[in-house]
Parts: sequence; C-alpha cells; structure tokens
Amino acid sequence: MHHATRDPIAPCDQSVRELFRERRLRHTRQRDLVYSTLRSLHTHPTAEELHALVNDRQRGVSLATIYNTLDALARCGLLRRIPSQLGGGACRFDADLSRHVHVVGPEGEIRDVPADLGEPLLASVGKDAIAAIERRMGVKVVGVAVQLVTSAGE
Ligand SMILES: [Zn+2]
Repeated sequence: MHHATRDPIAPCDQSVRELFRERRLRHTRQRDLVYSTLRSLHTHPTAEELHALVNDRQRGVSLATIYNTLDALARCGLLRRIPSQLGGGACRFDADLSRHVHVVGPEGEIRDVPADLGEPLLASVGKDAIAAIERRMGVKVVGVAVQLVTSAGE
C-alpha cells in the first residue's frame, strides 16, 4: 500500500495509545487502526472511503464500527468532522488538527492549503467582524475555519 504519510507534528509524535489515554478514550485495536489510518492520510476521507482503507489493512472491520469510532474520536477531540459542501454529500474527516485552510473541489474532495498560503488568509479574518458577531449572537468564537469552494474547469 502506498499512503502518503503526514509530516510529524505535535501531538502526533506521541503514540496512539498515549494520546488515547490523555483523552480518556479506551484503547482498542480497532480504534487504533481507524485513527492511525486516518492520521496517515492527506485525503480527508468519508467514513466509507476510510472503511475501505481500514479493511485493506485488516479484514472484517464493519462500517458501523468505523462510524462509532469516528464519533468517539470526534467527541474527544482527536479529529475534526468536515461537513459536506454539496447538498446531501457525506461528511469528511481530518485528523490534522493544526490550523489550516481547505480547498473543496467540485466533487466534494478536500485538499489542504499549504501553511504559507493559508496563514495570511486566516490572519486576515476581521477581528472587529468577529467581535460584532460575538456581541450580537452571544457566542464566544474560539476558532476560524476557512474552506474555499472551487468549481470544475479551472
Ligand atoms: Zn485538512
């Protein structure tokens, strides 16, 4: 198998077992397998795509297990769920929790924008506009996620 691996970034240097312990998530082989597989990818797979990839490594992991595991990992903050930009499209998953911008393609596929290109964009999001939103809506903004939606034929 040839899956591109991510550059190691904290806290990804830690063993999966240790990460789970920190988050009080019980360590099981299947959870470890699902998380390790997701973390090794740059492709932001859907649950079904991840299911196929996990089964390349170990037969017999059900789609229900994949969904349950993704839920558990999302609840303890080890991945982020990226809602579909397309009506009814499946949501995608990203284990890279560093601040980065996504480019969404016409089929819903997602790529990471390199940090040197994405950071200026994130930094340019208006502080005053965020403060106004917090005031009027009574929310506390703790992060900004940017997705750039692209069309076919560019
Ligand atoms: Zn990403």
